[in-house]
Amino acid sequence: MTVVDGWLDWAIKAPGPAEKGRYPSDPERAMSEILYIVMHSAEGWEPFLRRGHRPGEDASWTFSNCQDGDFYQHYPLSALTFTSGGYTQNRDGLACENEGVAGQPLNAAQVANARRMRADAATVCPNLRAPLLGAGFREHSELTNGATTCPSGRISPLYRSYLKAQEEDMTEEEHNTLMTLAKQVPEVLHLLKGGELGDQTGLGRADSVLGKLDTMPTLALSDDDLKKLAKYVNDDHAERMKE
Ligand SMILES: [Zn+2]
Repeated sequence: MTVVDGWLDWAIKAPGPAEKGRYPSDPERAMSEILYIVMHSAEGWEPFLRRGHRPGEDASWTFSNCQDGDFYQHYPLSALTFTSGGYTQNRDGLACENEGVAGQPLNAAQVANARRMRADAATVCPNLRAPLLGAGFREHSELTNGATTCPSGRISPLYRSYLKAQEEDMTEEEHNTLMTLAKQVPEVLHLLKGGELGDQTGLGRADSVLGKLDTMPTLALSDDDLKKLAKYVNDDHAERMKE
């Protein structure tokens, strides 16, 4: 699995017309400009997808991800294809059309292909964001303020596969730490909100609130987790100020 001159070495190479892979004002992008992947719902099938463009229209895309596991590449990663709603998102995003129609979540072959594509792109795109919706994955509907329903919720098995992998990749110790933290956080938040401390008389240190604070495990949090935590704390604060 490697990328050679902007082409994934395992993808079926099916080039689209060169003029649909560039803007007159921006003929080519640097790998450092690629920030995310836009997974589209093709609302169609392999015979037209494999062309990589719509004849007679300003429409082209970089990858075609088919339900039988065939995976096509039509343009090198440096090309700006026309499918994600406008110049900025066509420059910042790698576009992948997914065979099938609304109501058909990506199947296992499509999820595997997409993960392989994302892993390869990450080796050459230094600024590709983390594989989370809203960061390293964006959606056509969101990028166009709802002007399209694409991708109609079809991509969720791919997003979920990354969240699941994170939990599976933990050691037993890391998982136990996470579970302990999950149990203790509500108690501590309760206190921070001015909740009743409860009678601590006669409790050993280990069972007391103080003791629990002592043993609050720490986790290495990603930037994304920290942002979520900060949002939670802010929202919670705003909520309490209302009362
Ligand atoms: Zn789309």
